[in-house]
Amino acid sequence: MSAPRLEIDLKKIHHNARTLVERLAVHGISVTGITKATLGSPEVAKTLLEAGVSTLGDSRIKNIERMRNAGVSAPITLIRSPMLSQIEQVVIRADISFNTELDVINALSSAAQKMGRTHGIVLMVELGDLREGIMPEDVESIVRKTLELPHIEFKGIGTNLACRSGVSPDAKNMGELSALADSVDKTFNLTMDIISGGNSGNLEWALNGDMSGAGIGRINNLRLGESILLALDPLNREPIDGLHTDAITLIAEVIESKVKPSQPWGDIAQTAFGTPSPITDQGDISQVMLALGEQDTDPEGLTPPPDIEILGASSDHLILNTGDNRPSIGDEIELQLNYSALVRAMTSPFVDRVIT
Ligand SMILES: *Cc1c(COP(=O)(O)O)cnc(C)c1O
Repeated sequence: MSAPRLEIDLKKIHHNARTLVERLAVHGISVTGITKATLGSPEVAKTLLEAGVSTLGDSRIKNIERMRNAGVSAPITLIRSPMLSQIEQVVIRADISFNTELDVINALSSAAQKMGRTHGIVLMVELGDLREGIMPEDVESIVRKTLELPHIEFKGIGTNLACRSGVSPDAKNMGELSALADSVDKTFNLTMDIISGGNSGNLEWALNGDMSGAGIGRINNLRLGESILLALDPLNREPIDGLHTDAITLIAEVIESKVKPSQPWGDIAQTAFGTPSPITDQGDISQVMLALGEQDTDPEGLTPPPDIEILGASSDHLILNTGDNRPSIGDEIELQLNYSALVRAMTSPFVDRVIT
């Protein structure tokens, strides 16, 4: 098989998704399965649906097109604000989009009208992480204008934390979203379908609650990507209990395997990627090189097998200390990925993707 390659174990992804769907269902929370880190893989999308996610979500219209072209007909939400230059594709391919700008919502309405379709809108609210979102005090006026637009269905509100600034979901900000849901419903005499509380960073809050006893309030949906694919809690990158952390692994091939000194020699200047980090002298070591580098993944986000240490990386090479075991040329090494390494590998044309 060719290397480097991502091996994607659909059974493990199914187990992870199913487990989280069941744990959240107890709290009345549905799961939107987020496919963006898999480039909108139709196989992963189908697996998530079989595991019980209620809808799919992706940040890129190209990924949504890929899933549609492969016959995925479940509801899909575009979870990034649509670009004005892609409005038509959004209306054709996505059922719902997340929005924060009236100019965009107006354009979606016109496009939907022209095509004789209806497009759903979830308004994203800024609650402190300072990525996307309408400031809370401006939400009602935008809801009012959205409700007036033809061919637009106002579906609800959502928020996204723990991404740009690492703000954690808690009783306070989630309570604010719930209170906003109550006041919007009351002002406009409706009952919103969707109150989407956040991403994988919300799991701890949703499942374990907090000491304040505030409960989950009106939140009835979470959007999960990383927690399903990598089984990690993005707040602390700890594995989530009962889930497979190796549903997706990266396999790379050994191209050099030698005993070398651990210390470089000669005058030390900058490396290909900046300032070299200091190296502790361990005498001679088993220095093993993989055909894998910055052009394939984020080397900083890789975890090697036990007893193997990652020493460094360049565009095309990953350098390991393999301790007492010195692999042969052509051997393969399996690496675990964090989110950054996963998205880089998934989008690199040099890395194959193999479904297992
Ligand atoms: C990426 C993304 C998600 C999924 O985040 P994970 O941490 O992978 O669960 C959810 N919502 C939005 C708006 C996103 O951009």
